[in-house]
Amino acid sequence: MVQMTFSDDMEQVDKDIRNCTRCRLHQERNNAVPGEGDHKAGIMLIGEAPGKKEDEQGTPFVGRAGDLLGRLLISAGLSRDEVYITNVVKCRPPDNRDPRTDEVKMCRSYLQRQMNLIQPKVIGTLGNHSTKAILDVSVISKIHGKKFSIEGFTVIPLYHPAAGLYNPNLVDEMKKDILLLASHK
Ligand code: URA
Repeated sequence: MVQMTFSDDMEQVDKDIRNCTRCRLHQERNNAVPGEGDHKAGIMLIGEAPGKKEDEQGTPFVGRAGDLLGRLLISAGLSRDEVYITNVVKCRPPDNRDPRTDEVKMCRSYLQRQMNLIQPKVIGTLGNHSTKAILDVSVISKIHGKKFSIEGFTVIPLYHPAAGLYNPNLVDEMKKDILLLASHK
């Protein structure tokens, strides 16, 4: 019997995401946002969903939250180029509403393929939605900066950068968490 093996690559994942029509979010998107960064990164960061700017540019975290994320990475001696950044949901939910359960579910295989290809040493989940999608736990204020293990991946939940924009008092704590993440790369 001929054995079929499925060999995947990031170019194919990106293409599949850009052509995706699995859920309602494709109808209003300008650009799908597959992800960006080093395909061999030791650190993978997973946010919630693209916002307006990300949808316009097809790149994750390019708005104000992205600026803060970039500064947090620099504070830990990291640059955006040396990590891989993506989201749980690859298309922008209208009016920046929270992604719905079925949308997260439909998009999940893309994230899984990205994780399998990159094989990061550590995954940072950014905020409640991302943490819930990966670990099935949320309440980020209780679990940020703690280490979890799932399917052979080490996962550290982090505050979403937008939280630091609303509450600058969190930024010191966020810097500590990013330092911990950086120590695992
Ligand atoms: N917030 C996210 O969760 N992801 C982005 O790409 C931008 C903002």
